[in-house]
Amino acid sequence: MKTTRRGFVRAGAGALGVSLAPRLARGQAPRNPTGGGFDVAVLGAGVFGSWTALELQRGGRRVALIDAYGPGNARASSGGQSRVIRMGYGDQEIYTRWSMRSLERWKALFGESGRGDQFQAAGVLWMAREQDPLTTKTLETLARLGVSHQRLDRSQLAARWPQIELGPITWAIHEPDSGYLMAFRAVQTVAQAAIAAGAVYVQEGIQPPAGRGALTSVTTRSGQSIHAKTFVFACGPWLPKLFPDLLGDRIFPTRQEVFYIGVPPGDDRFQSPAMPVWVDFAEEIYGLPDVEGRGFKVAPDRHGPPIDPDSVERVPTAETMARVHEFVGRRFPALKNAPILSAEVCQYENTSNGDFLLDRHPEHANAWLVGGGSGHGFKHGPAVGEYVAARIADGGPVDSKFSLATKQPVQNRTVF
Ligand SMILES: Cc1cc2nc3c(=O)[nH]c(=O)nc-3n(C[C@H](O)[C@H](O)[C@H](O)COP(=O)(O)OP(=O)(O)OC[C@H]3O[C@@H](n4cnc5c(N)ncnc54)[C@H](O)[C@@H]3O)c2cc1C
Repeated sequence: MKTTRRGFVRAGAGALGVSLAPRLARGQAPRNPTGGGFDVAVLGAGVFGSWTALELQRGGRRVALIDAYGPGNARASSGGQSRVIRMGYGDQEIYTRWSMRSLERWKALFGESGRGDQFQAAGVLWMAREQDPLTTKTLETLARLGVSHQRLDRSQLAARWPQIELGPITWAIHEPDSGYLMAFRAVQTVAQAAIAAGAVYVQEGIQPPAGRGALTSVTTRSGQSIHAKTFVFACGPWLPKLFPDLLGDRIFPTRQEVFYIGVPPGDDRFQSPAMPVWVDFAEEIYGLPDVEGRGFKVAPDRHGPPIDPDSVERVPTAETMARVHEFVGRRFPALKNAPILSAEVCQYENTSNGDFLLDRHPEHANAWLVGGGSGHGFKHGPAVGEYVAARIADGGPVDSKFSLATKQPVQNRTVF
């Protein structure tokens, strides 16, 4: 590591996979390289914080981006190998619009960063039953908004994907232009772009802010102050730990397990293009094709038990493994008894109904609460960043859908 003219100490290229990432030296306060405090300090460099920092910095603000463990770290909700980007959202048209906008922005960023492989248009298949209100509403919304899609009946599905045992599935929607994002690497690409644009990255934990009224600074775990005019707390599942009184019963971090199943040797039926991303919301499960030889990904979407993102041991449970084996053997018979190659234990940071939380803190007028991704937020990182940056710039009110006031202390999921 060496000291830079900004007074930071640069980490080696491998520390984050982000070669531009300086670390805060022990006993050294982060400073705005052009003098004074920062315009905005973004706390948390997950997908929401990194995109917000990028938007703000490119919009001319002087931004500090701070993360306790690093962009896309293995504890973060953004830390997995891959994340689905689909346009379908039932009748929740705003999320379809945000997915459409976000996909454009992801592709543009990957194009300019030379990381075009971090989005793959593998297609997304929505498996549906005869009576399937969510998928029926999705079909209507996709048609109304002009999203490329196809409705397929059972015989068409069987002909195109014979490796899927359809069981109760009688029809499906195929979104050919959707697919998956390489999650933790994509977050690092965003953070790297923010740093390249001039944002100062610091790897440090932030202490919960004390008192009331406008904040002038936040304090790192090592006791340094970071001064800014505006603060964006984009701490994902850690938000209830930072603001226990306010969010302790409004954001529910739940344990979620993801499995990578080994496919038979030489069998390409579970890779793209033979296999799309698929979702079966009636069975609360979804999956992705085998990417980079890691295995065929299968992830139960049902909310798990409460989790502490700092201290939980990230090893899967026998119960979920058994459920995944049973489902895979039934829906993908060629993978019956196929081994689990690896697993990820992550967490959703659920709001009461699945709508994001993008609002000002009620007691710190210059602080923003940005989170509540609720198991579907990754794809929307670009739209979230644009939205938050725009509200910081115009001072305007937030949509009630994203407001703190609409977040209840009970869980009643309505966004899928
Ligand atoms: C298993 C799983 C599958 C998912 N699948 C999909 C999917 O297919 N498609 C999709 O769109 N979404 C999906 N999601 C949801 C999506 O990944 C999340 O909604 C999104 O990543 C949340 O991002 P975030 O930036 O809010 O939080 P995070 O990524 O958790 O980022 C928060 C950051 O804050 C930092 N931090 C926390 N506390 C502090 C502190 N005190 N000081 C400094 N830094 C701090 C952390 O280190 C972390 O990096 C999935 C989530 C999981 C867990």
